[in-house]
Amino acid sequence: MQNVAAFFNTAEKLKQEIISPGLCSGCGACTGYCPYIKSYGERIGVVHDCRITEGVCYRICPRAATKYDDLRKDTFGSAARDLVLGNFAGIYFARACDESIHGMGQYGGVVTALSVFALKTGIIDCALMTGGDFTGAKPVVSADKEEILACAGSKFNASPSLSLFQDAVKKGFQNIGIIGRPCQVTAARKMQQVAEIKGERLSFIAGLFCMGSFSPEFYQFIKDKGLGKYEKMDIPGDVKFSSENEETCFPYDEIREYIRKACLICYDPLSELADLSVGSTESDYGWNTLITRTVKGVKLVEDAVASGAIEIKEYPDELLPMLKKAVFNKKKRVLERPDATYLELNDQEREYFLGAGGEE
Ligand SMILES: Cc1cc2nc3c(=O)[nH]c(=O)nc-3n(C[C@H](O)[C@H](O)[C@H](O)COP(=O)(O)OP(=O)(O)OC[C@H]3O[C@@H](n4cnc5c(N)ncnc54)[C@H](O)[C@@H]3O)c2cc1C
Repeated sequence: MQNVAAFFNTAEKLKQEIISPGLCSGCGACTGYCPYIKSYGERIGVVHDCRITEGVCYRICPRAATKYDDLRKDTFGSAARDLVLGNFAGIYFARACDESIHGMGQYGGVVTALSVFALKTGIIDCALMTGGDFTGAKPVVSADKEEILACAGSKFNASPSLSLFQDAVKKGFQNIGIIGRPCQVTAARKMQQVAEIKGERLSFIAGLFCMGSFSPEFYQFIKDKGLGKYEKMDIPGDVKFSSENEETCFPYDEIREYIRKACLICYDPLSELADLSVGSTESDYGWNTLITRTVKGVKLVEDAVASGAIEIKEYPDELLPMLKKAVFNKKKRVLERPDATYLELNDQEREYFLGAGGEE
């Protein structure tokens, strides 16, 4: 029997091509407006096929066919681009000026400080964020300062926070911000183009650096090892769980099996399509690396610096080759994988990573 999913972009096709083979990144974009697609914690399931031949669910999925050049053009126009780091205006070390925000942040608290600032200045009227903690991440619509503060800190699972977009729309929010992993940033750029779901209400996209997130089974590992008693988790090489007076570490290899399969084919560790991207510095954990990308992102950072919400300093020249090498290697690894078929890149870009030499 020939399946309709072979020809049309239906929920069934999403199921067959992306969810069933384990390639779903858990971004949550496809849930929330379709009664046939549900999220069960961090798992997404298609409960019924439909007969909509050009389903929004498939169109906005970051693991369905993705023409990066088109998304870049829509986001940045024809601006020149660094093949490794993506389009960017500036790269800095940054941290929150407010001591308490700095203290609760994963590193410098820049994401939290900028989110609070964006809300206060009306750039956004709410943000789709990730609350809970590393023993249980939870999608949240944050519409006041306290709700944003409660989301500080990284949870390394794939919280499907985009699943709350329709909730935010129904509540009447007009300028919805997103704090997301790179897959969520890609989905958000696709969503912005879909009028049926009011995608134009996504007004600011802050992306995290991300080399991979964990599958739901990782929560069992945390439980089995009794790690829930710690306050914070981080991955500065090894995997570290810490509280004020104690910490324990595991070699990364011990938890590698929990990395989501969808993350192994992710070509975008720096959230290249975001208005701005934030990660660690890998050298001073009281600061973040901050990359400004769009005009909106540059303006938000300039205003936040001027008003004393964050401080920035020059990104050290000697760190740039290391950052670029890590990203280059990740992109190369992904392009070498036969299952990274969703990536539609131009030949020049492929050649840059896979061609002769193939080293940054
Ligand atoms: C799964 C994952 C993998 C990461 N991998 C890397 C990496 O390899 N290298 C690197 O430099 N940085 C990585 N990061 C980013 C890093 O952990 C910090 O989130 C980032 O540096 C911002 O720090 P901050 O101090 O500004 O964050 P904070 O001010 O503490 O804010 C953290 C923000 O992250 C959001 N958030 C938390 N968990 C998630 C989640 N699971 N999904 C989406 N949003 C979330 C919260 O909503 C909050 O707004 C990763 C983050 C995640 C979630």
